[in-house]
Amino acid sequence: MADKTPPGKDYVALARDLAPGFTARAAAHDEHGSFPHENLADLVRTGYTAMTVPTAFGGGGASLWELVQAQSTLAEACASTAFAVNMHVHGLAMIANLEGETAERACRAVATEGAVIAGGFSEPGVGGNWWHPTTEARPVEGGYVLNGHKGFFTGFPGATHLFLSAAVTDDRGLPQPVAFLVPKPDRGVRVTSEWNAAGMRATGSHSLALEELFVAEEHLIGATGALPLLFMTGVHWAWCSFASVFVGIARGALKHVVDTQRKRTLKVIGKPNAHLPGIQFRVAEMKTKLKAAEAHLWAAVHADHDSPATQADPLDHYIEMSLAKMSITRLCQEVVTIAMQTQGGSALLTNDPLQRAYRDVVTGLLVPPVADVTLEWAGKQALGVPVFAEPRWGG
Ligand SMILES: Cc1cc2nc3c(=O)[nH]c(=O)nc-3n(C[C@H](O)[C@H](O)[C@H](O)COP(=O)(O)OP(=O)(O)OC[C@H]3O[C@@H](n4cnc5c(N)ncnc54)[C@H](O)[C@@H]3O)c2cc1C
Repeated sequence: MADKTPPGKDYVALARDLAPGFTARAAAHDEHGSFPHENLADLVRTGYTAMTVPTAFGGGGASLWELVQAQSTLAEACASTAFAVNMHVHGLAMIANLEGETAERACRAVATEGAVIAGGFSEPGVGGNWWHPTTEARPVEGGYVLNGHKGFFTGFPGATHLFLSAAVTDDRGLPQPVAFLVPKPDRGVRVTSEWNAAGMRATGSHSLALEELFVAEEHLIGATGALPLLFMTGVHWAWCSFASVFVGIARGALKHVVDTQRKRTLKVIGKPNAHLPGIQFRVAEMKTKLKAAEAHLWAAVHADHDSPATQADPLDHYIEMSLAKMSITRLCQEVVTIAMQTQGGSALLTNDPLQRAYRDVVTGLLVPPVADVTLEWAGKQALGVPVFAEPRWGG
């Protein structure tokens, strides 16, 4: 996979240009839990949100490498903004891969009208297991009527389009997962609780009720029942994009600690704290863990995603990408935890960005793929135990 997509726009440079403004606004949005509409407007205005739209549809056709570099750069400045646009940039890449009219319409809307996509797959009772939606899609003339609940709908306040999952009951009475991409409707969607959380406070990850929401047939994405395959074959876009946000947070934490400890002086040694062995060892430890996280991310980005073997048997690929996301986010969380200890008690003060990084980075452990399922699948696969055999354990 190419690292750079010639000759188009340089999205990493664009992220670097936008970063100072995002940094300046991050603390206030975190404090108030407000959605960073002005940041999203900048991302739309500058074409950042068209990054993963194929060039054939007027977008940037960015590579996965560019996406993760750009996203980690944004996350260093404002993790919530990077996380809010994460569902859009990687979701769009996955949608574009599906081809077909709905995908093309979405791509063109993003490239020409500034459309922004938010994705809702998590549901109460299903949690992070996205493949078994309980939201019901009832077939009616001209489309479907959706009823159900969606939790953690990141980016909802700024979205113009909703990427949603639901289940249609087939002729055998079995639920089949389907996905829709709908312009944000005026009715049929109700915010049941506004996002008020300890971390990623500015992501607007509201909970929603879908109440008799009519969705026209033309908004169906992919074939009925194809949702798991959609995730598996395009999963590198999702999990690498997720992971890159947390790499950005960890990188920012390390830089901040180095910067502070070089300036802060202790009377007993009469020199900057940087001369203390404990500080030096911890900084080196943070650096080692960050390098490991970055190396795993680059390996995941450069894995063979498109070979016929991967596409024919995507389970290996899915597990490899899931393990990468899990390992990277764990390392990033460790980096920020060490950063707190290195900085000392002042790291907890609200005017120190480290406490925000600490609250934001932990969400990397909570977002999909579910760590327990990742470990189960990876362990079974490595041990030659059938991954999908029932009962799941023993028997
Ligand atoms: C900041 C943030 C933003 C998010 N944004 C979005 C978004 O935009 N769109 C979206 O769809 N979702 C989003 N999510 C939700 C996320 O995808 C998960 O669905 C959610 O975190 C799951 O939380 P839960 O409390 O329902 O946990 P559950 O999924 O119920 O998990 C609870 C526990 O059970 C374990 N577990 C769960 N399932 C299994 C299983 N099958 N087998 C064994 N163990 C299992 C888990 O490992 C965990 O320990 C977001 C989450 C966060 C934290």
